[in-house]
Amino acid sequence: MSLPVVGFVGWRGMVGSVLLERMLAEKDFDLIEPIFFSTSNAGAKAPLFAGQRISKNEEILQDAHQTEALKKCDYIVSTQGGDYTNAYFGPLRAAGWQGHWIDAASSLRMDPQAKIVLDPVNRSVIDNAIAQKNLNWIGGNCTVSLMLMGLNGLFSAGLVEWVSAMTYQAASGAGAQNMRELLSQMGYLHQSVQAQLADSGSAILEIDRQVNQALHSDAYPKSNFRNTPLAGSLIPWIDVPVGHGQTKEEWKGGAECNKILGLPPFRESGSIPIDGICVRVGSMRCHSQGLTIKLKKHVAIEEVEQLLANANDWVKVIPNDRDLTEKYLTPAAVTGTMQIPIGRIHQMAMGPEYIGAFTVGDQLLWGAAEPLRRILRILLEA
Ligand code: NAP
Repeated sequence: MSLPVVGFVGWRGMVGSVLLERMLAEKDFDLIEPIFFSTSNAGAKAPLFAGQRISKNEEILQDAHQTEALKKCDYIVSTQGGDYTNAYFGPLRAAGWQGHWIDAASSLRMDPQAKIVLDPVNRSVIDNAIAQKNLNWIGGNCTVSLMLMGLNGLFSAGLVEWVSAMTYQAASGAGAQNMRELLSQMGYLHQSVQAQLADSGSAILEIDRQVNQALHSDAYPKSNFRNTPLAGSLIPWIDVPVGHGQTKEEWKGGAECNKILGLPPFRESGSIPIDGICVRVGSMRCHSQGLTIKLKKHVAIEEVEQLLANANDWVKVIPNDRDLTEKYLTPAAVTGTMQIPIGRIHQMAMGPEYIGAFTVGDQLLWGAAEPLRRILRILLEA
């Protein structure tokens, strides 16, 4: 029996490489005939992974600009980016292609013909869409997916009146070059005071003054972050401005969460207000969020913790304890893992229905690659 043909576009990018790693770990390639595409290197050899060629028949990289080659696929998984989706998705459909399109880019997320996928949270929305022959499956914004994985238990119990999410987002969300730049910035700051650091008697205010001078120097590497220092600082603005004083990243919180949950559109009656300030910080690839959750009624903290803990296999409630928080609720602890810890859970001073919480997640795993891997698997097994 021939296997379904799955085309991969964007597999060597950050999200694409994490996706392939996860697919190899879960043996997803046993179920498919993969074809690898490239926008820059068609005709070269398809990739080797751990010394093995995972493409079974097609050993040459296909041209991702050729609609005829793309049309041969039963599924296309694109982690190439929004420009590619904008240029090729429409013409492919117009040419009569009826396969499943699975995409990490935001371009199609709010399209009425597309579903945003996060199956531990919205499996019923996905199942309904499969029954209705939906063909377009888009991964959510990383911060949105990570928040919903953490707060799933409260949303599915229908307890949430509104959420304010203050984010602490990693450099990886801005791209590979930004991760490199963050490290260069750290190195530059360290070098600027290396001699003083080696001398335990040197004055801290002098060190601080020199670091501040380095932060403002023309040589400080900051071109990828729009000339704004990140290491030694932070940036309280992510993506372009939209209406209501929000950035696009902040708007996605409300717009995508409501769509994922199958609720009316953000800001319309029946939707859940979700808003906050999105901030870029100097962590590598984990996004964190400080949450204020207004519940519809008072619920005991123990019950809140239980609802959160039982919602899916990956969320992990961390007791509101200093040592455990430092050990388990940080980007350093979570990077490279599938776990979504949520902690610092307590009733806030504003009243018994107000819950404070903090959650962390790897933005390349549950934040990007894993929902795509899982929807492919769900569709293959449907
Ligand atoms: P990326 O790392 O920039 O990769 C995108 C493409 O750039 C690659 O597939 C590759 O295409 C090309 N490329 C050019 N030079 C490269 C190099 N030196 N190394 C690797 N690739 C290179 O993009 P990404 O961060 O994975 O994001 C892909 C999409 O996912 C975007 O739409 C993004 O918005 C979305 N997304 C990203 C994240 C995230 O955390 N980064 C999270 C959720 C969604 P060719 O092989 O065809 O040349």
